[in-house]
Amino acid sequence: MPDVQCCKCGKWKNKQCTRDISSDSYEWIREKLNITNTSVLNYYICSTCERDTRRKSTIVVDASNSTSDFEIQLEEYLFMKDCHHRCCICGVILTSSSVVIPSSARIDLLVDHHLYVNYDTRVCDKHLCKNRLSTNISINKKTCDPLSLDGGNLKSLILDLISNIREVRTKVEARKEDFVCF
Ligand SMILES: [Zn+2]
Ligand SMILES: [Zn+2]
Repeated sequence: MPDVQCCKCGKWKNKQCTRDISSDSYEWIREKLNITNTSVLNYYICSTCERDTRRKSTIVVDASNSTSDFEIQLEEYLFMKDCHHRCCICGVILTSSSVVIPSSARIDLLVDHHLYVNYDTRVCDKHLCKNRLSTNISINKKTCDPLSLDGGNLKSLILDLISNIREVRTKVEARKEDFVCF
């Protein structure tokens, strides 16, 4: 029987699949979820809702930083401009099966293909494997420019990198736990 209830989706979960967000360091999550009731001692959030909440906060940060005081250039990396209703990977006109590229797949594009795209870029869903980029893709880079990032983009990139590292680390830890169970 699962032992704790997620304060966002209300589902009952095993405690190890949730995070205790009762402490001061998670106040920002509680604020996002509009939790003001202080009579409850412990709040838990499931991993799905946590990821969701963090992702939303990334976009909010991005939107509030549209002005830029500086730009940094990364010559080894490319930036793909708005693809005008075309998939940024294969270049075909987007269909109803296209999706907004998940932040972890954006990081894969950057790490594996040296390509940066904006967070609202859409791609065909066939290029994705769950929320990661499929390994067998080739990209048409004709319409790319050298990458330069302003303050807002840089901040959202750093936040994406952090959440990506956190996601990978959670997976590694889960795998370790599997070993312990054996
Ligand atoms: Zn939940
Ligand atoms: Zn495509």
